[in-house]
Amino acid sequence: MNLNQTLPICIAGRWRLGQGDRYATLYPATGEAVAYLNAASLDDVEEAIQGADVAFRTSGWAQRKPHERAAVLYRVAQLIRERGEELAQLQRLDNGKPITETRNLVGSAAATFQFFAAACETLEETITPSRGDNLTMSVYEPMGVIAAITPWNSPIASEAQKMAPALAAGNAVVVKPAEVTPLMALELARICEEAGVPKGLISVLPGKGSVIGDAITLHPLVRRVSFTGGTSTGKHIAHIAADKMMPVSLELGGKSPTMVFEDADLDHAVAGVLYGIFSSSGESCIAGSRLFVGHGIYDTFMERLAAGAAALRVGDPADERTQVGPLITARHRESIESYVALGIEDGGRLRTGGMRPQGAQFDRGNYYLPTIIEDVRNDQRICQEEIFGPVLVAMPFSDENDLIEQANDSVYALAAGIWTRDYKKAWRFGRAVQAGNVWINTYKQFSISTPFGGWRDSGLGREKGRLGILQYMEQKSLYWGM
Ligand code: NAD
Repeated sequence: MNLNQTLPICIAGRWRLGQGDRYATLYPATGEAVAYLNAASLDDVEEAIQGADVAFRTSGWAQRKPHERAAVLYRVAQLIRERGEELAQLQRLDNGKPITETRNLVGSAAATFQFFAAACETLEETITPSRGDNLTMSVYEPMGVIAAITPWNSPIASEAQKMAPALAAGNAVVVKPAEVTPLMALELARICEEAGVPKGLISVLPGKGSVIGDAITLHPLVRRVSFTGGTSTGKHIAHIAADKMMPVSLELGGKSPTMVFEDADLDHAVAGVLYGIFSSSGESCIAGSRLFVGHGIYDTFMERLAAGAAALRVGDPADERTQVGPLITARHRESIESYVALGIEDGGRLRTGGMRPQGAQFDRGNYYLPTIIEDVRNDQRICQEEIFGPVLVAMPFSDENDLIEQANDSVYALAAGIWTRDYKKAWRFGRAVQAGNVWINTYKQFSISTPFGGWRDSGLGREKGRLGILQYMEQKSLYWGM
């Protein structure tokens, strides 16, 4: 990617300047411009979707044998790996995550393409059951134009999670990355084309969600929206989808409880809780942001946790030793600061953090220290609303029935963490906690073969997993007269 020129965007295989407003993407660590581009215009949206529909119907991609589509997607995975370091550095500039994290995200994008290439090949074997005297066949057909709308916090991984299965299923994909982080989606589109995905099947349309995202969602030729982002945006998209009778999948927000029991391995639990909330600067839908600690170990545990949080290395995302990078934008940091102020106003007590780090090296970036707030109640706003930053609220518990009620007392139900040596307790709480993803003596452990998603306000549908490809296909039953 040549960052010295205004970047072209991808409109149904044509790489040209968008017709919307020109803007710069900024490096969160310094506020400097990384790239200039023009957002997509509404005319660009129309051209991209019409072009995607034509490519879907005429490129022959959907008619290729699954192993032929798979071969192209394996090549995408290979190209991502070959260019891994370059992509990881670009993503660091795009959203300011530490380089060690962006390398993982790039690796995960490659693994996702590889996995859905394999899923596409094996799907062929599942479509021909027959019954009784008559032959019936249940087959899956691609849907047409799929919209992939993604947030700024894990670009490339979020985009791969939608593009790989949608393409594997034979569809065209229109990607709408977050306005502030468009670079990885653009690179991924280039890589897909280089690997042999027919031109026109992929578009990347950066721009404002309320304009470009809305126009894409509303377009009659868009047959499915796969959305990752905030809950209010997800609900808005769900309303449009209901009117269009269009399936959607929604990966939304969270306020995930982590429960540390008195019999937990404390070294392990301290490290896991710190990682669960402060990795990615807390800008993670699954951040373990509500902590419940057994009364008997509360003081010891919190002392160790606060010391661990204060010792985390906040700083330059290019530095291999950095554990907590800057936040995405200055505005987002202000929102986090106002949440911390609210928590304190409501009676919370700062255990650590609660401010910007001091020092000239932090002056230009959107840095904020890992923050822990105690003396809060689960029903307060600081414990109920998603902050999406490095802020942990902590509460002691003494009654296990009360604990599960509090853990489940949230509109969100995306993830949960349990730390205990007692496997029966882990089982009991693992079943009782309401969440799409529960980690036991670990946190943020992922597997591409395991379905991922949330309950209630955390979303609808599941991504990943072998059957994740089916959400991008329509089922059809064929009945044969004999
Ligand atoms: P957001 O909802 O503001 O934006 C997400 C995407 O939707 C962006 O591309 C945006 O431009 C677009 N968008 C905004 N308004 C739109 C509209 N009216 N129509 C169509 N598209 C629109 O969210 P964000 O601030 O970018 O991301 C943070 C949120 O994402 C957090 O709530 C976080 O929990 C959530 N998230 C969830 C998951 C998950 O897997 N559950 C993963 C990552 C992030």
